[in-house]
Amino acid sequence: MAVLEIREMGDPVLRERAREVSAEELAGSEVQRLIDDMIETKRAANGAGLAAPQVGVPLRIAVIEVTAGNPRYPYKPPIPLTVIVNPELTPLDEVTFATNEGCLSMPNVRGDLERFENVGVRHLDRQGEVQESTRRGLTAGTFQHEVDHLDGVLFVDRMADMRSLSTWEEFERHRKDDFVARIEGLVRRVGS
Ligand code: ZN
Repeated sequence: MAVLEIREMGDPVLRERAREVSAEELAGSEVQRLIDDMIETKRAANGAGLAAPQVGVPLRIAVIEVTAGNPRYPYKPPIPLTVIVNPELTPLDEVTFATNEGCLSMPNVRGDLERFENVGVRHLDRQGEVQESTRRGLTAGTFQHEVDHLDGVLFVDRMADMRSLSTWEEFERHRKDDFVARIEGLVRRVGS
């Protein structure tokens, strides 16, 4: 396995619609190795998720995993390692919540945006089996962020007000305590 270079904003691959992965490709050693490398790259960067375009590969694959005490997002509920291939994401209702996100492809930038609170997710796992789940709250937000990457969308595109853009240091200095207090209410209410 290898830690891959993470592409940063400005790289055109982050703005393309990634293409579906065929069953044959998914079973092949090249894509299986890519998935292993994406997991290792995500873990090395302490990310909550990583999409294939972020390592320069325009395929509809993302890996999501949050372990307890993640240093980037200590308030996020844990998510076991989940590999999503050709995902389809459907909001279950109109309910949204205000959140604050960062992105490995946008170093040292965070901002406020709204995400759907309840989504249905259907995808293939790395064995090619169909998986369906309901995701809520911050975890739903994480899935929406990664699926957005597969459509060439970055979280800043969904920000209604760019004045909340901040560096990580300034977020922690001025906003984090209020944000975490509010978001802990959401986590208690919907769990993960
Ligand atoms: Zn991202």
